[in-house]
Amino acid sequence: MNAEDGIYDFIILGGGPAGLAAGIYGMRAVLKTILIEKATPGGQLAITKGVENYPGFEDISGLDLSDKMLNHAQSYGLEVIQDEALKIEPGPDLHSVKLASGKVLKAHAILIATGGAPRKLGVPGEDENLGRGVSYCAKCDGYFFKERVVAVIGGGDTAVEEALYLTKLASKVYLVHRRDSFRAGRLLQKRLRESGIEVLLNSVVTRICDGEDGVYSISVKNISTGEEKDLETEGVFIFVGITPNNGIIPPGIAMDRSGYAITNEKCETNIPGIYIAGDLKQKYAKQIVVAAAEGCVAALAAASYIDEKKGEEEAV
Ligand code: NAP
Repeated sequence: MNAEDGIYDFIILGGGPAGLAAGIYGMRAVLKTILIEKATPGGQLAITKGVENYPGFEDISGLDLSDKMLNHAQSYGLEVIQDEALKIEPGPDLHSVKLASGKVLKAHAILIATGGAPRKLGVPGEDENLGRGVSYCAKCDGYFFKERVVAVIGGGDTAVEEALYLTKLASKVYLVHRRDSFRAGRLLQKRLRESGIEVLLNSVVTRICDGEDGVYSISVKNISTGEEKDLETEGVFIFVGITPNNGIIPPGIAMDRSGYAITNEKCETNIPGIYIAGDLKQKYAKQIVVAAAEGCVAALAAASYIDEKKGEEEAV
């Protein structure tokens, strides 16, 4: 660790676009900054197939974009460690973060940018068949289903994008969506109509059926007609949104009913020195560019807060 006493100006939890942008702005503001990521930097972005709407990049893979963000942040000397933050203890002066490795780090300001994880469908056969036909990442697992039949579940941007990706590998792709209209953007819907994907609307998956070799079918119910049928498929790719990774948020911070944190426009929570940015923060549009922008805002707000705090301490 760069801070021998374990005391930083700014601790960033999460290495997705919000955390990495905060790392860039934190380092440029000459804050002693550390970024803690439990897995690979990039977060959800790193497993996104293609990104076509991040300004400056007409088409870039999520992994390449997250690598660029990480390299950019590290070019300023940002310290990045792989560890899991287990608990934040807000203090009257410094806030503490307890890590899975047993270390305890302290800082004047903490940014929580831990994002979200894929939401589960919650149907029988889902958990048991993870890695045996059930997947939450087409880019990671799609290749295993080359020339096979797969079903994608969901009606948002991710489901449609990943279904389109799978058409390049699978012999047939079903898209099962619970309503009769899509949440996905118009351009993606246009591509979907032209793709040859068989779309089942007003349909929910009630069971994922498996045998010795893994998944072989899903049971689908049409909620308008009540009709139920089995679809033969070996792969079930579930993209029904994300659930916020909010377990680390200390008590006392305002949250909405869906578990997203409520902050002001500076990404400040109601605990001074604790900021939340990215997909974990309640917002209108969960986009990479928005998460990155919030990382910037949080770091600038933290820099100003720390300057003021240190100024007051010196004056005492
Ligand atoms: P999302 O927009 O929340 O969509 C989730 C989809 O899953 C919705 O169609 C929803 O149905 C369906 N769903 C939710 N729970 C379900 C359940 N229990 N059973 C069956 N279906 C269920 O999630 P997302 O597609 O992962 O996108 C997350 C955010 O990232 C969004 O803001 C999206 O715009 C953004 N994103 C953008 C891009 C891009 O711009 N290229 C790419 C990926 C993601 P209902 O529609 O009926 O609610």
